Amino acid sequence: MAQGAYGCVMSLSVVEVNLQKGELLYQQGDPNDSAYVVESGEILLFDHVNGKRVDRERRRAGSILGETSILTGKPRAVSVEAVVATRLYRISAEDILTQFAQLDPILRSCVETTIDFVARINRPKLQSDQVPIAPSTLRDSQKIIERFRFELDISKGLKSGQFYMAYQPIVALQSGEVHGFEALMRWQHPELGSIPPDRFVDVAERMGSVGQLTEFALIEACAALRQLIDVSGRELFASINVSGQDVDRSGFVDFLQHVFDLNGISPKQIKLEVTETALVPDSPSASANLDQMRALGCGISIDDFGTGYSNLGYLKALPLTAIKIDRAFAGDAVQNAVSRSIVRLLVGLGHELGVDVIAEGLETKDDVDLLRQIGCVFAQGYFFYKPMALPDFIKILQSSPSGRQFVA
Ligand code: C2E
Ligand code: CA
Ligand code: CA
Repeated sequence: MAQGAYGCVMSLSVVEVNLQKGELLYQQGDPNDSAYVVESGEILLFDHVNGKRVDRERRRAGSILGETSILTGKPRAVSVEAVVATRLYRISAEDILTQFAQLDPILRSCVETTIDFVARINRPKLQSDQVPIAPSTLRDSQKIIERFRFELDISKGLKSGQFYMAYQPIVALQSGEVHGFEALMRWQHPELGSIPPDRFVDVAERMGSVGQLTEFALIEACAALRQLIDVSGRELFASINVSGQDVDRSGFVDFLQHVFDLNGISPKQIKLEVTETALVPDSPSASANLDQMRALGCGISIDDFGTGYSNLGYLKALPLTAIKIDRAFAGDAVQNAVSRSIVRLLVGLGHELGVDVIAEGLETKDDVDLLRQIGCVFAQGYFFYKPMALPDFIKILQSSPSGRQFVA
């Protein structure tokens, strides 16, 4: 894992490998330093018996290879060559062994027993000259391949300007004035088109490389906040989504400070949105970072509040400044009595804790009227504004510095 600016992780544990037709990937007897997932093309597994080459099987997209020798700790049992031009993803043995060690002990023992058993009994016998094509060995191979592809493409995309931020205004429910915005990331992939953040943020988190996205979001959103404050002459705030991995990373608070200073922004004008699970720190570095964020004066919002964690005891220990009521409750409260009760409860809790409450996903006038009547102070949603590009937001504030368009 490489360290990026300010200690942020720029991990790339997956590497793309392209083979020409006939090219060897590895040879029988080689050390077991990595496994491979076939993305496209076809490879052939062969070995030598009594000095004679024996072709064993062919594998196509969605197959994994090289994993057995990693798990058994033995050298490669077969050689592998490309039948046609082939693209693979290389995963290091270290990564696989780390993941394997974290498996449930029963599952791990199942895998180890199966490998031993198969090695003893299943030496394929060739019946003819036809080399069989093995079925895809990976469950959910399309998802796995997408994960690797995204991981590699995210880094390329960040360098080549495929990512940008959209801004959704957050308004005060009583006055209809814009008080701030949430920064939401967008990815325009050159081949796959627009990819929603739900799909790629999750991948980046799984692969441990979400830090590079967070750095981008912080840099863009703080520069946008500076411009919007200058245009409107008002003290707006920016809500920026960060992941649990960011909170846990050494150097993260220094990075925050650096970006705020660069744009002449007070930490009080920033709310970092983190989900509940990420805010229940089980590591000393996460606790230390949260304390440092509190010392810096930076706001912390619990995102999707009420959806993740049932034990509210953690609220006592946190330097909270806002809670965001998830769309699943706020946008559903008019229709659904249970959602309505939950929203009342959360708004009351926010008041008791002395933190801001922001309702998400208000789409209709009825949603807005209800939330206002319940006493919720801030809201965002399609009823007010959809997420938009910065120039559009600037235009709104230029025509009306308070952004006030929606009053009861
Ligand atoms: P979120 O943080 O809960 O963001 C709110 C989502 O609700 C956004 O979806 C927003 O466009 C959508 N939304 C807002 N108002 C309405 C409404 O009235 N109706 C409906 N149906 N939807 C509404 P989006 O932009 O697709 O983002 C999805 C999720 O991706 C976000 O959920 C957040 O978890 C994640 N995300 C987005 N940008 C970033 C980022 O920069 N960093 C990180 N770590 N995560 C991000
Ligand atoms: Ca959010
Ligand atoms: Ca949310």
